[in-house]
Amino acid sequence: MKVRVDEDKCCGFAACLSVAPKVFDIDSDQIAVVLVDGELPEDLHACAREAAEACPTDAILIEE
Ligand code: SF4
Repeated sequence: MKVRVDEDKCCGFAACLSVAPKVFDIDSDQIAVVLVDGELPEDLHACAREAAEACPTDAILIEE
C-alpha cells in the first residue's frame, strides 16, 4: 500500500495526524506530508485507512 496527500485538497485540519501520527505530519505550510517513503509497512495500513476516512476533504489517496 502507498499513501499520498493531494496538496490542493488538504486544508491542514490535521485529523490524519491525530489518527496516524507515524504516517502523517503537518509541514510549515500547514499541509499534510507522508512520513513513509514508498510502501507502507503492514502495521500502519489500518491507521492509514482510518486517516483517509477521517480526512474532511478526501485529500488522502491510498493505492493498494
Ligand atoms: S486530515 Fe486531510 S485535510 Fe486534514 S491535514 Fe490531513 S490530509 Fe490534510
